[in-house]
Formats: sequence, C-alpha cells, structure tokens
Amino acid sequence: MDDLKNQPISGNDLARFSGPNTFMRLPSAETAAGLDVAVLGIPMDIGTSWRSGTRFGPKAIRAESAMIRPYNLATGAAPFDSLQVADVGDLPINTFSLAKSLKIIEAHYRDVLSHGVIPMAMGGDHSITLPILRAIHARHGPVALIHVDAHADVNDEMFGERETHGTVFRRAYEEGLILPDRTFQIGLRGSGYSAEDFTEAAGWGFQQFPAHQIWNRDFSQLGQDIAQQIGPKQKVYITYDIDSLDPAFAPGTGTPEIGGLTSPQALQLIRALRGLNIVGCDLVEVSPPYDTSGNTALTGANILFELLSVLPGVHYR
Ligand code: MN
Ligand code: MN
Repeated sequence: MDDLKNQPISGNDLARFSGPNTFMRLPSAETAAGLDVAVLGIPMDIGTSWRSGTRFGPKAIRAESAMIRPYNLATGAAPFDSLQVADVGDLPINTFSLAKSLKIIEAHYRDVLSHGVIPMAMGGDHSITLPILRAIHARHGPVALIHVDAHADVNDEMFGERETHGTVFRRAYEEGLILPDRTFQIGLRGSGYSAEDFTEAAGWGFQQFPAHQIWNRDFSQLGQDIAQQIGPKQKVYITYDIDSLDPAFAPGTGTPEIGGLTSPQALQLIRALRGLNIVGCDLVEVSPPYDTSGNTALTGANILFELLSVLPGVHYR
C-alpha cells in the first residue's frame, strides 16, 4: 500500500509481552480524527446484575490481543492494508454513577462519530450499548441490529431501574433507535421468569434464534440469511455479548448460561456478515476476575478482530 496505515507491532519485532497495552498493540490516538476505525474501551461493571468484573475487560482484552497477527488467514482479510485504525483509549466513565456514565458514553460517542469513523467498543457490561445506540441513532438514524447474546436484555426494569445491562434492547426499541423488523437476536437460552421473557420482543418484530434451535445449524448459512435480510446498504450495528458462547469457551463473564455457541460458530457467524454496511460494533461482558485462564478475553479479542475483518472498506488479499 502506498500510504501506509497504522500497523500493529509485530510479535517478531517486539516480544508480545511488552509494548503498549493497546488493542493489537496498534498506535494510540488522542482523538478519532483521521481514523476509519476507532477502538475504545469502556471499563464499566456498575450496570451488571450478578458477577461484576467487566470494568477490567478492556485491559484484559488489550493484553490478550497482543497474540493476534494482522492478516486473517481463513478469510484473506487484511484490515490494516486499507483502514486507518487506532486505539483511542478508555472513556472516562463515573464508576459511582451508572446514569452519569451512560451520559458520558453517549457524549463521547457523538464526538467520535462526528469524525465519520466506525467505533469498536471493548466493554464493559452490556448497559454501555444503550448510550452507544443513542449516539449511533443521532448520527445515522435507526439501524438494523445483530445482537448475539444468551439473553434478550429486554427487561422493562430491574430494581426499578430502566437502564441496566438487562434492559438495553427494550429501551432501544421504545426509543426507535433500531429497526425492530431488522433486529436479530442469536443464542438466547437459559431459564426465565415466564414464557414471555424473550417472546414479547418477537411481537415487536425481533427475529430470535434461541440457542437450542440452532445448535445443529450451519452458522455460515445463518449469517448469510441474516445478511441477506438486512441487505448491503442498510446501516447495521453489531453487539456481541461474550456470554453467547458456552461457558466452556468463555467462562469469564457475569451471567453465564450453559448450552451456548462454540468458538467456531462465533467465527462462522461473523465471517458471513462481510459486505454489510456496519456502522459500529461492540464486544461486551468479559469479566477477567472470573477468567482464570485468560481464554475469555482472548476469545473476545479475536471476535473483535473478526468484526474488524468484515467492516466496510477492508482489503482482502
Ligand atoms: Mn447482554
Ligand atoms: Mn448476556
């Protein structure tokens, strides 16, 4: 490439266990100006309802991402050939106030989006996605949504609170941030309080793919079906809750549910989304204190690399 873009530091030039703690050891940037993709951390766990610890997610994902090389051998994607990517650091959330933190996230996202970049967030618990979608809506209008998660996150309230990690997509629906008939929830499972816990959202138009119905499905085909329904022009946001994976693959998370996706299924699904008009994405709910092997953060880092590999404008070799 003539104009050389930011490149991750190679593990053959500087030992992987050294160097900057940025995503893939990319250069850091003060602002999103001039970037195509801004990777950022939202170190927050005060929106969670069971195990905490996702405040340490961005640090751990960055650390494990040092293992990832810039070329995607399976797909031929070489995102750093054509996209200018940098790690713009962590958002300055207020760890004593969830309400204030969500406002801080939205304000920072509005600024990041004003530069015309695609934001990729490292969570953080899933409550970060509501203010992100508010800012995305302000910039792009209502978007299609691909939501991979063990949980539908459509509670009305929790302890009387309307903005938590379990209420995100009901609020997004009510506020018109997403297109309900272009919203796809994949991997839902576990126990509920009533039969309507998940299915009420189907009545809004959400297409739901409960884990037990797709255990034996080809995830490449599933991803292609979803991509076809969204179409290449429609703007789409992807939110990936790491607890969509089975706890055998991703134990380090706040609300684990057995019977989930495998790592290969996660890769198949994302790789099938190439060609979509993705305007942003996040990877949430990695909780390092419960991640004794580091595998969950490693998997999260790789999911982010796979998402990066299907963004608009990626060069394929
Ligand atoms: Mn979730
Ligand atoms: Mn979940």
